[in-house]
Amino acid sequence: MPGCVRLPRTSATTKKLILVVIDGLTPSMFEGAVDRRATPTLAFLAEAGRYRRGVSTFPSLTPVCLSSIATGAHPDVHEIPHLVWYDRTLQQVVEYGSSFGAIRAAGTRRSVLNTIYEMNERHLGRGATTVYEALEDAGLTTAAVNITCYRGRTPHRPTVPMLVRPAYGPKRFFFYNLFESDVTGAPLAVLNRAAGTIDAYAEAVGRWLVTRDGFDFLVFYLSDYDYASHVRGPDAAHEELERCDRAVGSLIAAAGGEDEFLERYAVILCSDHGQTTVTEVTRLQERLPDALVTASNRAAMAYLEGDPRAYALRLDGVPEVEVTLFREGDEAVARREGEELRFARGDDGFRTSGDASILDHPNALERAWAALANPNAGELLVSAAPGWEFADLAGRHHAGGGSHGSLSAGDSEVPVVTVGLDVEPASITDVMPAALQHFAVPLPAYARPLAAA
Ligand SMILES: [Zn+2]
Repeated sequence: MPGCVRLPRTSATTKKLILVVIDGLTPSMFEGAVDRRATPTLAFLAEAGRYRRGVSTFPSLTPVCLSSIATGAHPDVHEIPHLVWYDRTLQQVVEYGSSFGAIRAAGTRRSVLNTIYEMNERHLGRGATTVYEALEDAGLTTAAVNITCYRGRTPHRPTVPMLVRPAYGPKRFFFYNLFESDVTGAPLAVLNRAAGTIDAYAEAVGRWLVTRDGFDFLVFYLSDYDYASHVRGPDAAHEELERCDRAVGSLIAAAGGEDEFLERYAVILCSDHGQTTVTEVTRLQERLPDALVTASNRAAMAYLEGDPRAYALRLDGVPEVEVTLFREGDEAVARREGEELRFARGDDGFRTSGDASILDHPNALERAWAALANPNAGELLVSAAPGWEFADLAGRHHAGGGSHGSLSAGDSEVPVVTVGLDVEPASITDVMPAALQHFAVPLPAYARPLAAA
């Protein structure tokens, strides 16, 4: 209509929002570094806002967790079950990158395409809405740097000749130099994670985006810390955390300083999962030779022909197994050292019978239930015992270092900082609803609205 003023979608008082995800950062590492002021930027954000420990999803593995962060859902909705799983439709193993050896064992080209394209195009549940889809449908501009869950509405042509078709991401989309919506001059993210080259790329892109104020919502994902923590063990990768701190600090500098940054942006900073020390390693497949076992880090799944209970009983009392989970009729069953807990989700929470101490892990009923309700999951799920890791397809592991994936608190708790938000996410599944509520965008029906803190 002529003369009609088109109102901006965000009011002048709504700040833009930056989500920082530091892969594998434990709450204890975060708290120690902030207390010692070894990480001045993280300390600044924690003091400017609110800090709490939150809970991850199960299995507490990166592709599952990043999908939970981006969709506000557990795997029952987003349908990404593990780092490695069996696609029943195509009758093939999907491997997102447990190790280079595991990628080779599953077929290098197929694994690379699964990780780059299929995870978002085909594996991510159609019933899930990503934060980019929800915010851009409301007229906002979203940006994502390196996060593996990126599904959006904008096609982006690959920047390298070995890839041919576009990926659908947010309007501003940067994925390890393979897709770049804008020419930023960021250095090539060659795979030298030990030297921090991937995060150096993310940092350069992040600076470029903040300098231009080129988004309403930005996901700034730093992956190198987890890699270092796997090698050295949890709470030991101090140098890498200081590097993450400097990367976040460079966003603040790009905005013109701390005051200018906080005037313009609200912030959520979290990790996707924790890590615990592992000293023992085993191949779970050898315990269940008549099943198809997909295992990596501290979680495993078994795809079965027969009754899952029979398989679970065979794992009772096995040293590397802490909890087994399977469905029986309308109920879920958890077993630990021969004891049993039955549970089912009702309208007003979970009904349980049996030994409740079997699932004495953070938010365990909800996480276990959702993992079992994922159509891509195996019929039997296994959470590793403390100190144990399951070797991947190529026999690779992190024994002597850190790992994650289980229901245990050490693998599952994450640091959460919020600045300029009036809600406090308690779970990584609360991050997407917090972002939508910040911009007054309606939540998808499956998501849980957060009460003001
Ligand atoms: Zn990891």
